[in-house]
Amino acid sequence: MSPLIDHTHDAQQQSWVASANALDADFPLQNLPLAICRRAGSGEAWRPGAAIGDQVVDLLALRDAGLLPQPAADALSGTENGTLNALMARGKPARQALRQALFAGLAAGATQQAQWAPHLLAQAEVEYTLPARIGDYTDFYTGIHHATTVGKLFRPDNPLLPNYQWVPIGYHGRASSIVVSGQAVRRPLGQTKGPDEAIPQLRPSQRLDYELELGIFTSQANALGTPVPMEQAEEHIFGVSLFNDWSARDVQAWEYQPLGPFLAKNFASTLGPWVVTLEALEPFRIPFVRPEGDPQPLPYLDSAGNRARGGLDLQMEVWLQTAAMRAQGQPHVRLMQSSFRHSYWTLAQLVAHHTINGCNLQPGDLLGSGTQSGPEAGQGGSLLELSMGGKQPLSLPNGEQRSFLQDGDSVQLRAYGERPGFRRIGLGMCEGQILPALTR
Ligand code: MN
Repeated sequence: MSPLIDHTHDAQQQSWVASANALDADFPLQNLPLAICRRAGSGEAWRPGAAIGDQVVDLLALRDAGLLPQPAADALSGTENGTLNALMARGKPARQALRQALFAGLAAGATQQAQWAPHLLAQAEVEYTLPARIGDYTDFYTGIHHATTVGKLFRPDNPLLPNYQWVPIGYHGRASSIVVSGQAVRRPLGQTKGPDEAIPQLRPSQRLDYELELGIFTSQANALGTPVPMEQAEEHIFGVSLFNDWSARDVQAWEYQPLGPFLAKNFASTLGPWVVTLEALEPFRIPFVRPEGDPQPLPYLDSAGNRARGGLDLQMEVWLQTAAMRAQGQPHVRLMQSSFRHSYWTLAQLVAHHTINGCNLQPGDLLGSGTQSGPEAGQGGSLLELSMGGKQPLSLPNGEQRSFLQDGDSVQLRAYGERPGFRRIGLGMCEGQILPALTR
């Protein structure tokens, strides 16, 4: 058993918040993810909250009432500005202190119950903003099944480029257009050129897509010029969120050579409101193994700890509801399910690679994992894959078909960890609905 498993992972421990004890709850006592929120429509200051069942603990209210012990109270210093960056910067000790204090105070039978209960808000009455001020955003490409399938569509005879098994491929994305779950996303205009067209045109994207990703928030900074070794890489990771990297495939196909994604990606990306900490994810860590016949990583991307527990077995899903389904009161339908265990690179390897040239990560930077597709047909983490580049539209239960997203479509990402002997934990929900393009 990992030494990082402790009493806060005890599956038997229940909470005095009854909704947290449902076996399918995303937010049992063993999870305690963090967000920035406020009472919906209140105009109040944004402030940090922790999820428990269907409630949010107002962390600064708890602290200001003198109800949080040290060092958990100090861990929150700086979050009064409505971001988690200061807590992220403090690294693991502060994060763990907060987790331990919340676990103790929210556990069934805790003497704190009467004093803490007034500082809980119903999630149904809360609105969210981004959990951190994201200084920089890098999107990786760790899904080898995604890379292979998409590569086949773009380059049938040369799907997986030779660097893929050696370099964690990534590009620098744009932080300013990252929005929080629930915000609508406008179909972008872009320059596209159909295969039979002589010249490109400016028009609304006709091949609008989602990408099922994890967003990884960084923790402590590394100094410019100082790479983070593998053994210390996880000390620079705070936790993970759901992340939808909306993509305009027609814009992408025309613009991507030779420098990679640009306007096809940076019109919007949607982040789930909740950040699940590394501590909560501990029961779902798995060994990092390379498929037989694939090269082992170079030494700077290798460590004993990474081999033993670098991977992460999180189930990830995409759900869709069209405007017609919504009008008929039909819920979202699941389009696919896969697991982050198929990621070709681990979270630690992304940090070690990102910093090997001396690049300095800052607290609250965001790393996108890249689209997480499983090995099987039907496990594509984007419509581009599920519809084979638009050639095989998906049939929905109400008879509608989809090759790419239509106006009014709502996409939900979900993810959760499950393992015998432990409580299931979830990442919550990341949702966005497509608005029509601006008319010109
Ligand atoms: Mn992406």
